[in-house]
Amino acid sequence: ASLIRSEVAGLPLYDPGADTDEVAALSGSRRVIKLSNSENPYGMSPAVAEALRLGLAGGVSRYPDPTGKRLTEAIGKSLDVPARRIVLGNGSENILELLCQAVLGPGDLVVTQAPGFSLHEIFPRVMGARVQKVPVTAEFGFDAAAWRSALAAGPKLVFLANPCNPTGAMLNAGQLEQFLAATPQSALLVLDEAYGEFARPNPEYPDGLEALRGQDRPWIVLRTFSKAYGLAGLRVGYGIASDAALIQALDRVRTPYNVNQQAQDAAVAALGDHAHLADTVRRTGLEVARVTERLRGAGLRVVPSSTNFLFIDTGCPSDRVAKELHRAGIIVKAWREPGYENYIRASLSTPEDNDVFVRCLTEICAKDK
Ligand code: PMP
Repeated sequence: ASLIRSEVAGLPLYDPGADTDEVAALSGSRRVIKLSNSENPYGMSPAVAEALRLGLAGGVSRYPDPTGKRLTEAIGKSLDVPARRIVLGNGSENILELLCQAVLGPGDLVVTQAPGFSLHEIFPRVMGARVQKVPVTAEFGFDAAAWRSALAAGPKLVFLANPCNPTGAMLNAGQLEQFLAATPQSALLVLDEAYGEFARPNPEYPDGLEALRGQDRPWIVLRTFSKAYGLAGLRVGYGIASDAALIQALDRVRTPYNVNQQAQDAAVAALGDHAHLADTVRRTGLEVARVTERLRGAGLRVVPSSTNFLFIDTGCPSDRVAKELHRAGIIVKAWREPGYENYIRASLSTPEDNDVFVRCLTEICAKDK
């Protein structure tokens, strides 16, 4: 018999995208343009750099604060939520994992969207749960009827990302309301807002926390410092839950030192620099609009994005396009799911890098036609 549990042996491997060093060697260029992981080209706030400098000067021989007191209080204050309803994670993906560990057992049903974030499927399957994926509409929108029928099957946990990864599309307030109305009160509703800061300037984007605040049901809204705040390397995300009891359950499965002290301190500093966040979001939005228009001008289909990345129909197999881009020193993520074999996801970088990407991609696509 195999040592490895069958649930684990059968899992797809998380795809972090091509390796930067390998692409550098392949392209003969030392400067690789990495657009595969929705990273933020504008970097951290100067206040974060200062917090990190001070933190390191104090040494790293002590364990971090296991309760994350300073950070949960800062988040709580900014959102008007008591700190005891907030959990910190080693990235928000850590919280996805904790939720699955605390809630799911073999045979339980989880509903999520397709195409979607792979960890919304992988973590439930590790627990032996079944995952049903609700497809998006032909226009990459929210399919209310399909969600209603999937939710009627009585899931124990529901994952919805708003905005969605990889499509970049968002649900508006009316659609979020339809989704909430269709979700059974018994299910734990997980609203993943990893890219929420990028969508917020759009008046049609519903603030998930505000939509859920008054609801009498178990829920958690997940957010992260990885994307708009530019702290992906520090690994810090957070969840705001319907009640403190859910946080206490997560604390039972959470490793006590899951978020290191430098990351906690940096996140407090990041939260305080509203101007840096606003500037990043504004610059990203301008590039999303500009690059979308240029790619569409070249005849490519681009899904309207409320995030810092674009989901692009290249018109030919995405694996081949990704390989040709690698040769040019550019890394994107190629989609392989049935129906999306021609799609790549590319995050936006600086205007200069984005111009190189647009030029290379349109050349590759023109050659293939
Ligand atoms: N949720 C979604 C929808 C994501 O796309 C990602 C990152 N790719 C995460 C959560 C996790 O991000 P992090 O762990 O860096 O907070």
